[in-house]
Amino acid sequence: MIVQKYGGTSVGTAARIRRVSRRIADTVQGGQQVVAVVSAMGHTTDRLIALAESVNPEPSARELDMLVANGETITAPLVAMCLQGMGVPAISLSGAQAGVRTSGHHSRARIRDIKPDRILDALRRKQVPVVAGFQGVSEELEITTLGRGGSDTTAVALAAALRADSCEIYTDVSGIFTADPRVVKSARKLTHIQYDEMLELAAVGARVMHPRAVEIGELYGVPIHVRSSFSRGVGTMIVAQLPMEDRQRVRGVAQEKNVAKITIVGVRDRPGVAAAIFEPLSAAGISVDVIVQNIGRSGHTDLTFSVAESDLKAAEKIVKAAAKEVGAKRVSATGGIAKLSIVGTGMLGTPGVAARMFRALAEGGINIEMISTSEIRITCLVAREQVDKGARILHHAFELDTEAV
Ligand code: ADP
Ligand code: ASP
Ligand code: MG
Repeated sequence: MIVQKYGGTSVGTAARIRRVSRRIADTVQGGQQVVAVVSAMGHTTDRLIALAESVNPEPSARELDMLVANGETITAPLVAMCLQGMGVPAISLSGAQAGVRTSGHHSRARIRDIKPDRILDALRRKQVPVVAGFQGVSEELEITTLGRGGSDTTAVALAAALRADSCEIYTDVSGIFTADPRVVKSARKLTHIQYDEMLELAAVGARVMHPRAVEIGELYGVPIHVRSSFSRGVGTMIVAQLPMEDRQRVRGVAQEKNVAKITIVGVRDRPGVAAAIFEPLSAAGISVDVIVQNIGRSGHTDLTFSVAESDLKAAEKIVKAAAKEVGAKRVSATGGIAKLSIVGTGMLGTPGVAARMFRALAEGGINIEMISTSEIRITCLVAREQVDKGARILHHAFELDTEAV
């Protein structure tokens, strides 16, 4: 059994829906059981969000989910109809019908469990279940969505719940590259990548896979194959371990442009201040990313952190109130920033990787505003208009365009 997920561009037009359906039909005729998961057509999700904002600049999360879930709800029956027209029995299922049970957090719901009874029932009847990705249902029967790019997560979670042999993610590039091939022309396709590397890349902006899909894949050992829906070639396998000789210091570069920073100037240097500022942000569901606290001087310090620029307005309001409470001097909020990251398990225990990154950026005239690291990732915050250039510089500096990967 195989789960095949088709992304937005791959189902963007009627002709593309026919092409995708042909591919599903071929797999079925080759003797495999297929469960299909589909995204909204083309830019439907963006258009629905823009439409919502044109009637209310701050639409409630619940109504927004009720609206945007429809993108996927439209694609699934179209694919099912197309399959039926080709003589392949098929049935479309919404997330709720497919048994995708989630938390109640609108626009960022997490899958709690999957009760795939209707999918199994369809498979027994030799029908191809075509599941609407990205959406689920909470215990209160509220329609939820899993966050932008969340159809990947629907697919991998279904593959785990159904104990499928693998999950194929069909998209508009031929696999996972050493950098976004639309930004770095010399990016190379990887034949394999480890779950932990892909998770870090996805978390810092490589949108080719939804981070939670990778997390679930690793947890349940689902082999994930990312490949093109436009050509038949093999793509990239996401696996637990790479062959030893394939390990490289740095495997990929990623960037994320939706970043802003907030600085709180002159906070008192005493226990509880950071908690007083970050607790209300967390209560509002705002994730804080890179945090830098300066060395205190005469009992005061500055605290700077990054948030998604889309959360900036809400975060600024909350931080201003909290800063007043703790007696801080001033709060400043700045958008227009981006994250630039390098990722690779090979950098574990390899000295000099950070130095090489900073030197390359310096020579490119790119100023680093903040830095954060994990064991296998280094991230620099830089001006947004410089991030694409920075990605090309780092890709070259770490020889990703020349070395075998
Ligand atoms: P889908 O609609 O199929 O889910 P997405 O737009 O979500 O497709 O993801 C595919 C896009 O991810 C590609 O078109 C590419 O521009 C971008 N991308 C970013 N980083 C990478 C990378 N390292 N490798 C491949 N694609 C990447
Ligand atoms: N349609 C949703 C989005 O655009 C989910 C997805 O494509 O995975 O974010
Ligand atoms: Mg996607």
